[in-house]
Amino acid sequence: MSYIQDVRQSIVARNADQPEFLQAVDEVLSTIKPVVESDSVYKNNAILERITEPDRQIMFRVPWTDDNGNMRVNRGYRIQFNNAIGPYKGGLRLHPSVNLSIIKFLGFEQIFKNSLTGLPIGGGKGGSDFDPKGKSEREIREFCQSFMTELARHIGADTDVPAGDIGVGGREIGYMYGQYKRIKNIYEGVLTGKGLTYGGSLARTEATGYGLVYIVKNMLEAASAVNGNSVTIGLSNGIKGKTVTISGSGNVAIYAAQKVTELGGKVVTMSDSNGWVYDPNGINLDVVKQIKEIKRGRIKEYADIVKSAEYHDNGKVWQVKCDVALPCATQNELDVNDAKTLIKNKVLAVGEGANMPSTTEAINAFQAANVLFMPAKAANAGGVAVSALEMSQNSQRLAWTFDEVDNKLKGIMSGIFDKVSEAAKLYATPTDYVAGANIAGFLKVAQAMIAQGV
Ligand code: NDP
Repeated sequence: MSYIQDVRQSIVARNADQPEFLQAVDEVLSTIKPVVESDSVYKNNAILERITEPDRQIMFRVPWTDDNGNMRVNRGYRIQFNNAIGPYKGGLRLHPSVNLSIIKFLGFEQIFKNSLTGLPIGGGKGGSDFDPKGKSEREIREFCQSFMTELARHIGADTDVPAGDIGVGGREIGYMYGQYKRIKNIYEGVLTGKGLTYGGSLARTEATGYGLVYIVKNMLEAASAVNGNSVTIGLSNGIKGKTVTISGSGNVAIYAAQKVTELGGKVVTMSDSNGWVYDPNGINLDVVKQIKEIKRGRIKEYADIVKSAEYHDNGKVWQVKCDVALPCATQNELDVNDAKTLIKNKVLAVGEGANMPSTTEAINAFQAANVLFMPAKAANAGGVAVSALEMSQNSQRLAWTFDEVDNKLKGIMSGIFDKVSEAAKLYATPTDYVAGANIAGFLKVAQAMIAQGV
């Protein structure tokens, strides 16, 4: 049995009840084979065994009281996965579906994504099965304070720096930061995604969505250059003139839609966990922001306000014909049937804004049909990259301008695209960006782990 098969078998045996984690591990192991089998150094240093086992898994009780005075208890998590190249770094997710498998898959992916940014950040992730939907302002604040009361002992600006994710935006980061400061009496960059009045970075809110669109543009332009003029229908001009479907209507989806629109593309769909809207005239983002960022309402309300839009509570946005598809909601939201529909409708490119939104079978179908496919580890790395820039600004006690940060983000996304395509060319096929991202991300972390000994 090969080293990879051997390690895989033992990971499956030890984590049999963690399907999302196993899915994420399988995707990496199946693509890094050419590297791992080319040199015994990886086996001799037990790199695969070590990189798939978190440094630390912290689980804790989060007690709080609801508005009726009832005591409630949720479970909190922080997985400190790997700090070979920098302090643990990764978001906090508040969603009822959160469990150990989901936090471990996210933490595992984060190792490779953070490595791809070229910045000194290790991999981690956390969250809770608390459901923020329908909770009052006071309940959210009390939950965040209680969550941080325990988390504070495990994190620090040079140890572990959490950020937002599903259900955690500026409001929640603010409450958590306030509580950390109260407990520790230290004013430090322990969280990113902070408000602009207390150490946040300009362009952090926009970073994941903008970064996604930058790298999809890089991918379209590279394909157009390779194909020459004869077969460039739709590929040239990057995003300009493209019809784009987006799922989700949260942080990543909104700012991806904003950048697509700014670059001359047309976004025709958005969704939430209840349903989706189709607006053939192009989504009006002011309306979406009003509903989602201010009223914290449902996407259904969009169709009540914008007369050209239709609301559907069945089906998915992927049934709408498009040139570019950007899944920006959650894991496994795009399955093989959705992939087949998109392929039938002649989709040119898919960029993953969410983490692991496409199932393995869907990715295989896209690659078999020569659809350009940029995986999450590369495609949504802009968020954590600007989080790392927020850490730099906090350490320097300086604040950079929006353009300074946005230009650095553009440079980082181009750098990621170059690394991913070089690795793809060297070890797989030129447009196998899945293999490229896994291999390029893995190499740096593995080298650092080997250098630092067991
Ligand atoms: P938000 O909470 O801001 O938005 C999430 C969106 O996805 C909402 O529209 C939500 O709808 C929808 N959604 C969430 N869960 C489900 C579900 N189970 N089924 C259907 N729709 C769902 O989160 P973000 O935009 O921050 O995150 C979206 C994705 O991007 C996640 O996979 C996250 O891990 C990833 N990501 C985020 C980064 C960031 O900087 N924020 C960085 C890198 C990756 P509803 O409101 O109804 O729940």
